[in-house]
Amino acid sequence: MRTHDHDHSQNQSPLHEHDALVAEDEAGNLLGQQMVDALQAILVRKGVLSPGEVGLEIQKLEAPGTHLGARIVARAWYDPAYRSRLLRDGKSAAAELDIKVGEAQLVVVENTPAEHNVVVCTLCSCYPRSILGQPPSWYISKAYRARTVREPAAVLAEFGLYLPDDTAICTHDSTADMRFLVLPMRPTGTEGWTCEQLSRLVTRDSMIGVAQPLSPDAHLAPKTAAEEHP
Ligand code: FE
Repeated sequence: MRTHDHDHSQNQSPLHEHDALVAEDEAGNLLGQQMVDALQAILVRKGVLSPGEVGLEIQKLEAPGTHLGARIVARAWYDPAYRSRLLRDGKSAAAELDIKVGEAQLVVVENTPAEHNVVVCTLCSCYPRSILGQPPSWYISKAYRARTVREPAAVLAEFGLYLPDDTAICTHDSTADMRFLVLPMRPTGTEGWTCEQLSRLVTRDSMIGVAQPLSPDAHLAPKTAAEEHP
């Protein structure tokens, strides 16, 4: 962990070259961050870009979030015809919901009692960012990338996910061109729920395949805004 021993109360530039813009993450990517900070400070000093521009680009990158993936999953649970289209062509089905998938191809893989899917990028950090936002740091860690292929059941157990012995685990290795989204099984006890209510059970980890969706018992049918304020 980097420590800051200088006085932040002084009127320093936010891009002071000794200030980390982002703290070290769990994957330990400190060196990369230092290089990014140094390069950015030079570009700002030379007038090539402004701190505001950098902030805007970061904002654009971070605008997509798991809520988009959750909408897609909830719709597939709600509408069997949509589910079929989604499994056939993820990108087109997302577009039906006005969700633009920026990646070249989106392959949706469906969990069943017989097969559980989990997504990894063994090479780097390929991830369906346009519908799930930025990947969690563990996703880009060397341990996750290597071990998910070698011993997926052990990795899932570390996430607290224990599958029945007769459920096969299928690991999908993402590439720059092909990103995967896991379609988890719809939790039982959600009959009659709306898409909006269903979407609240869909977590990021369940769409990567390292967790199940939330249980309706722990998350009783939430009221939509329209229900609360008719
Ligand atoms: Fe990658």
